[in-house]
Amino acid sequence: MTFPQQNLTILGSTGSIGVSTLNVVARHPQQYQVFALTANQRVAELAQQCQQFRPRYAVLGTESAAQQLRSLVSSDVEVLWGEEGLALVAAHKMANTVMAAIVGAAGLIPTLAAVKAGKKVLLANKESLVMAGQLFMDVVHESKAILLPIDSEHNAIFQCLPVDYSGREQAGVRRLLLSASGGPFRTTPLSDLTAMTPNQACAHPNWSMGRKISVDSATMMNKGLELIEASWLFTVDAKDIDIVIHPQSIIHSLVEYIDGSVLAQLGNPDMRTPIAHALAWPQRIDSGVSSLDLIAIANLNFEAPDEQRFPALSLARTAAVTRGDAPAALNAANEVAVEAFLNGAIGFTHIADIVDRVMQSWPLGEPRELGAVQEADRRARAMATQAISQQA
Ligand code: NAD
Ligand code: MG
Repeated sequence: MTFPQQNLTILGSTGSIGVSTLNVVARHPQQYQVFALTANQRVAELAQQCQQFRPRYAVLGTESAAQQLRSLVSSDVEVLWGEEGLALVAAHKMANTVMAAIVGAAGLIPTLAAVKAGKKVLLANKESLVMAGQLFMDVVHESKAILLPIDSEHNAIFQCLPVDYSGREQAGVRRLLLSASGGPFRTTPLSDLTAMTPNQACAHPNWSMGRKISVDSATMMNKGLELIEASWLFTVDAKDIDIVIHPQSIIHSLVEYIDGSVLAQLGNPDMRTPIAHALAWPQRIDSGVSSLDLIAIANLNFEAPDEQRFPALSLARTAAVTRGDAPAALNAANEVAVEAFLNGAIGFTHIADIVDRVMQSWPLGEPRELGAVQEADRRARAMATQAISQQA
């Protein structure tokens, strides 16, 4: 099978998704040329990636980090820094595919730059879609960008929908079922949750991921963000999206149709599968992921999420239904609270408390332009920071 060669920009190449993407790309050197790699601060790791993949550009978060990288890589690699550098490599006419794998709100502007430029965008950075919702999807439709989900659940749903999917009614979709592992604290006694440490929260039973999304999985805010992400990606009301806990993480999500058919996508829990799927779409390539051994797995279990254990879920569902700038506020408050938890400033159960406090007093707005989304993000961060200082 022959493929047209893809020139790939990886935003966040030193992260968990970035490294998995390079692992898949390295298996197919004829099909994927690395055009640009970006990181925030990890100069040594980015230098090593530049040596191996020889990109045209490398981008770092600060000027001083960029200076350091210049002394470590060949002069063929142009080293840039900051938001301008990110926007340049995300929208560059030589790059046709962009992996959006920066974590958090920092991914919004570069991801949107890639979408505006009409690229094939592989979306891992769910926070950008959660924040900008309608505005983000409007740009996708205007620019004719191809948006392919990397989040394993959304990638699974994408694979279970018809190829010409244009909305749930036309496709006969009754509901979406997002699967969730339940994270490391699914069975921890509720009274012990307050004492859980960052390392315990980041020790996910099935997936190896960056620290922010690992904490989000422990609170299940990750599933809440994914509910909002799915409602925008697939034009489905939040009320038609259910969450089912499936501790083995083998079924990555399901689509139920009005005739009672339920289609699911299964596979070992390894992000190289959705990454390879999106890179090659509509074709298929080898990802390096081993065959699924159902006999060895033997059992697939399901349970309802416990709203008392995971209060972040109902906070996110409320924001998903409210829309406006509520999801942006929820996301910003959560980012601040997760960082405070990782830094030891607040306890595990305070994460949802802080987000709840911000959302309780959030003055709902309807963002009509990107500046309003960024302003909502800034205000919610300030409110969360204040709530944390009162908590401490
Ligand atoms: P990570 O923390 O491992 O990596 C984040 C990357 O973003 C790094 O390369 C880092 O240098 C870069 N970065 C961080 N802050 C930055 C900033 N301010 N400016 C520029 N670059 C910055 O995160 P991850 O686990 O790879 O997750 C990345 C995204 O993918 C997140 O949005 C996450 O929700 C999503 N996602 C991850 C997984 C997973 O398995 N890891 C699964 C589904 C979705
Ligand atoms: Mg996911």
